[in-house]
Amino acid sequence: MNKPLILVVEDDKPVRNLITTTLKTHDYKYTAAVNGAEALMAASSHNPGVVLLDLGLPDMDGVEVIKRIRSWSNMPIIVISARSEDRDKIEALDNGADDYLTKPFSVDELLARIRVAQRRLSIMQTEQASSGSLFTNGELKIDLAAGCAYLGGEQIHLTPIEYKLLCVLAANVGKVLTHTYITQKVWGSSWDNDIASLRVFMATLRKKLEPSADSPRYIQTHIGVGYRMLRIDPSDKE
Ligand code: CA
Repeated sequence: MNKPLILVVEDDKPVRNLITTTLKTHDYKYTAAVNGAEALMAASSHNPGVVLLDLGLPDMDGVEVIKRIRSWSNMPIIVISARSEDRDKIEALDNGADDYLTKPFSVDELLARIRVAQRRLSIMQTEQASSGSLFTNGELKIDLAAGCAYLGGEQIHLTPIEYKLLCVLAANVGKVLTHTYITQKVWGSSWDNDIASLRVFMATLRKKLEPSADSPRYIQTHIGVGYRMLRIDPSDKE
């Protein structure tokens, strides 16, 4: 995989050094910013492939940085924050972050999240180029023109809500989606009872999609936050 330029936004020097040293060791190119203003400048001048963003910055909140970048770019943004409250993660995700890591984090996990973000970026680019109506992920195929989904060549019989839910997850494969985001997309609202319905529909969708309930392959739960469709590596044949 072609390694993207990574923008590291972190005001805490030891943490910034840990991240940049890790990136250097793994042959990533990077550029660093120590506050929000520098981050916005670097994002627009370097157009990085992935942004690693701390939320607690000296001049502005990291969420503000996400909002401003999202006004003009889809570049993957991974939040790295000491804030471990679900509502902080949710706020960052609802404003367009792709993923989050809570400090202290493991270096291996950071590298894995960067690879997910890279895959998401390359999928986005391929889909923009082909604008095809067929979505494929592992054994799962969605024929968007026909409105049908298939697993291993067999059609899956989905209710309209389950199908819509599957399409929202697929359109954002690799990205953590909050309950609010999903219910907005599926029902156009996000009342508490929509979130309860979401759990029910998610359970029935999974029953049809996952061969084993104990080890889901396609849909990952982020407790208290939301869900993510995992991208299945094509070389990962079972
Ligand atoms: Ca900080």
